[in-house]
Amino acid sequence: MNKNFLLCFHDKKYLQSLFKDFSCDYALDKYEAYSKLIAKNYNAVFISEKFLYNNKFCISIFVKEICSSKPPLIVISGNYYFLPDLISVPESDLPKVLKSFTEELLKPVKHNESDVFQNLVVHMEELFLNKYFHEMILKGLKSLDQCFLKIIEIVDIVLLPELFVIGRVTKDKTEYFVSPNNRLSKDIIDEILVENKLTEGKLVLRNEFKIKEKNIDISELGYFIKKNILADETIFTVIGIKRSAADENVKIMAEALQNQIKSTIFYISSLIKQQKMYITDYLTDVYNRRFFDETVKKELQRSKRHRESFVVIFFDIDNFKYINDNYGHSAGDHILVSLTSYVHSLIRDSDIFARLGGEEFGILLPETDADGGRFLAEKIRKKVAEKTFSYESSKIILTISAGVLTVKNSEDADYDYDIIYKMCDNAMYEAKRLGKNRSVVSEI
Ligand code: GH3
Ligand code: MG
Ligand code: MG
Repeated sequence: MNKNFLLCFHDKKYLQSLFKDFSCDYALDKYEAYSKLIAKNYNAVFISEKFLYNNKFCISIFVKEICSSKPPLIVISGNYYFLPDLISVPESDLPKVLKSFTEELLKPVKHNESDVFQNLVVHMEELFLNKYFHEMILKGLKSLDQCFLKIIEIVDIVLLPELFVIGRVTKDKTEYFVSPNNRLSKDIIDEILVENKLTEGKLVLRNEFKIKEKNIDISELGYFIKKNILADETIFTVIGIKRSAADENVKIMAEALQNQIKSTIFYISSLIKQQKMYITDYLTDVYNRRFFDETVKKELQRSKRHRESFVVIFFDIDNFKYINDNYGHSAGDHILVSLTSYVHSLIRDSDIFARLGGEEFGILLPETDADGGRFLAEKIRKKVAEKTFSYESSKIILTISAGVLTVKNSEDADYDYDIIYKMCDNAMYEAKRLGKNRSVVSEI
C-alpha cells in the first residue's frame, strides 16, 4: 500500500510485522527522526512509548513547530497523554488506525536543514513551555498554586530531574512544591533549602505530593537554584540533576527552563490579579454586579437541570443618605466597608455576596429553599440592627431592608434572569414601603 509512515523505535524489530504492508522509514534516535522529518513528508509518525519518553516529547515539538506537513503523531502506548495533538493508541487498535489513513501520497518539500536545526536547538524548551502554558492559561488557571503544579508536571516531562522544587517565601511562611517523581527524601530537600537560606518563617510542604523514599545521596546531586522576586514574595526554583549527568548543556537547559518558569509565574500571577479585579467591587472587596449577574444566570441553568431551588436576596441600607449628610461621605464609605465585612462573616463561603451598586447588595444562595432563604435574610437583618458601627468617634446604628426571592424551578419554568431581578427588587421595595428594617419574601 502506498502510505508513508515514519516509525520511531529504539528497536527496529519492534512492531515491524504490524507495518509490513506499508512503506515505512525507521528512526532509531531523535536526530535520525529530525533529519527524516526534514527530508520527507509522512502520512503519520508512529512512536513507541519508550522512544517518546526518552526523547522527552521533542519529536512532538519538532513536528508541530518545524515540519511543514505536520503529520499526526501516534504513540503506541497503554498510557494516556495529556499533551494536545498527540494520539495514544494501544497496540491492539493499531490495525484499525492504519486503515483510516488515506491513499494519497504527500509530495516531498525542501527545507534548509541547518536553519531548521539551529532554530530547534535554541528554542526547543522555550517553544515547549510557551506552547503548553499558553494552552493552560486559555483553559483558565485560577490560582498560582495550580500554576506551580502544572509547571512541575511539565518540567518532569521535559527534563526528568532527580529533584524539582518550587518554593514560595512570604513574610510569614515558606511553602514548597515538590515533584512526585523525585527520588529524594524530604530531608535532602530541607538540606538544600536551608543550606541556601531559602527558608524563612514556617516551612510548609504542600501535601499534594507524596515524596518517595530517599535512594540518592546529596553528594551525587548537582543542582541549580534560581531566586525570583515577585511584588510581595520570593519564588525560587531548585532543579537537581545527578552530578554525573549535570554537564554544561544540562546547566544551560536548566537555566533556560528557570527563566521560562519565572516569566510564566509572573505572567500568570498578573493575569490572576486582573481576573480578580474584573469581578471585584473596588470599595468593599466583595464581588461586583457583573459577577453576581453572571453567576445567578449560571445557577438558573444549573438548577433547572437538577430541578433544585435557589434563593436570591437583595438588601439596601435604610436612610443611608442621612449617614452621608450627617457624618460626611467618607463616613458613608467606611460604613459600607464595615457592613460588607460584617455580613460576609454571617454567610457561608458557598454563598455569592456582591455589591450591586451604591448601598445595595445581593446574595445568591445556591441549593437553598424558601425557609433557608428567609432564615438567613432575617438573621442578617437582625444582626445588623443590633450592631453598633463606628466611624472615628461616632457610633452609628444601621438597618437594612431585604427582598428574598425563592426560585423554585418547577418543570414548566420559563422565566429569565431579568424577571428574577425585577421580582427580588420589588420584594425589597415592598419592605421599604412597609416601613423598612424588615424582609419581604416572594417566590417564582
Ligand atoms: P432608603 O431607606 O429608601 O434606601 O433611603 P436611602 O437614603 O438609603 O436611599 P437613597 O437611594 O435615596 O440614597 C442612597 C444614598 O447612598 C445616596 C448616595 O449618595 C449614597 N451612596 C451610594 N453609593 C455610595 C458610596 O459609594 N459611598 C457613599 N458614601 N455613599 C453612597
Ligand atoms: Mg437605601
Ligand atoms: Mg439604594
